[in-house]
Amino acid sequence: MEKVIKYIKSNTDNYIKQLEDYLRIPSISTSSKHKGDLQKCAKFVAGQLKSAGMTKVKIIPTAGHPLVYGELIQDKKLPTVLIYGHYDVQPVDPIELWKSPPFEPKIKGGKIWARGANDNKGQNFVHIKSVEAFKKTGTKLPVNVKYIIEGEEEIGSENLEKFLKTNQKMLSCDAVMISDTSLFEPNVPTINYGLRGLCYMEVEVTGPNRDLHSGSFGGAVANPINVLAEMIAKLHDKNGKITIPNFYKNVKRLTPKERENYKKLKFSDAAFAKELNVPQLQGEKGYSTLERLSGRPTLDCNGIYGGYTEEGAKTVLPSKATAKISMRLVPDQDPKVIAKEFTKYIKKIAPKSVRVKVREMHGGLPIVVPLDSPAMKAAAKAASKAFGKETVFTREGGSIPIVVQFAKQLKAPTILMGLGLDTDNIHSPNEHFSLSSFKKGILASAYFLDEFAKIK
Ligand SMILES: [Zn+2]
Repeated sequence: MEKVIKYIKSNTDNYIKQLEDYLRIPSISTSSKHKGDLQKCAKFVAGQLKSAGMTKVKIIPTAGHPLVYGELIQDKKLPTVLIYGHYDVQPVDPIELWKSPPFEPKIKGGKIWARGANDNKGQNFVHIKSVEAFKKTGTKLPVNVKYIIEGEEEIGSENLEKFLKTNQKMLSCDAVMISDTSLFEPNVPTINYGLRGLCYMEVEVTGPNRDLHSGSFGGAVANPINVLAEMIAKLHDKNGKITIPNFYKNVKRLTPKERENYKKLKFSDAAFAKELNVPQLQGEKGYSTLERLSGRPTLDCNGIYGGYTEEGAKTVLPSKATAKISMRLVPDQDPKVIAKEFTKYIKKIAPKSVRVKVREMHGGLPIVVPLDSPAMKAAAKAASKAFGKETVFTREGGSIPIVVQFAKQLKAPTILMGLGLDTDNIHSPNEHFSLSSFKKGILASAYFLDEFAKIK
């Protein structure tokens, strides 16, 4: 192992040069103009996997952009890790806001600047170089490795999802390793072990058959906006709890261990409030802000419209009002069940003076990976070694649908070992990635392979 670590440390300049080549390919998946660049990028990744010592490397065509697969199975008895990443990137507009061209990587201030530097080329390259270091130093890889690097993450991973469903055997593994999230703060090794799910609804309230004059009709018929606002207000009680019956029925309570992990994270309510310029924070009673942000379910009205919203005043009693309402879910809430409970409750609290339509728009399952799985422990230990600090555990408030699919289809723990920072401008102009995170990421990945070997 020493040889491997030494090799990685003395090759970082070389790794950065190779990453620059990867970043020069404008693999924007949403634009048909770049179809050829995605092919080119898939070939680049396949070449890298070969150089890392994978014996079976395939570019798998899909209805969209190709998947790149690679594997090195040495011994069925050894644990197998599946490494996931994506080689496609987001569009670059508005291009005029970039300080240097997005596909001409630039090193400045200890960072590499280019589209895809963080999301996700920089982060997935780490796991290719770590494996390669074993081969280059003639060190036997202590585990079996599989890679699946896709080209459609930024457009929904639809074809990978289909592929997962029919190729579970090919991708079977003891753990999935993904670096596509963030460090909790710079230089603090972080493993994300939970993602919230989503249930997105639309509520439409209809009153009279046309917009009415509020002077001639106000007081006689229900106003759909007033009614809708009252209904939305009823969805929370004064303690910030959601009032929909059975909403919390399947919510897994935060364990003492989890609450302890949350407490270890450095976080200031005052600074957070200041940054958002709100006079005070607000949320469910009995939970810290970080717990409310990722460990508890929430309900938010995302938009509300109806009546007159143009300049000036118009005295109208509207015929219709609509609201979009989303709920962020935690295990084991099921978006389908929550949608039904939501619909039932909305219909129940709607007054008889209006008609109400409720529509389910989309949803996704929440996930939490057990903190005590051997793979998780191996990853935490590895990240600590590389960063020289204790690894912290976080949960994310948002969703990454493909992660849920991995868990569901492969039944293996998913480790989200993020290396980026929330301030790296992913999806925005001037995306960048810290070179220190890049280097430490390669070390963390190498240490992980070593630690992971001990789980069986
Ligand atoms: Zn992205």
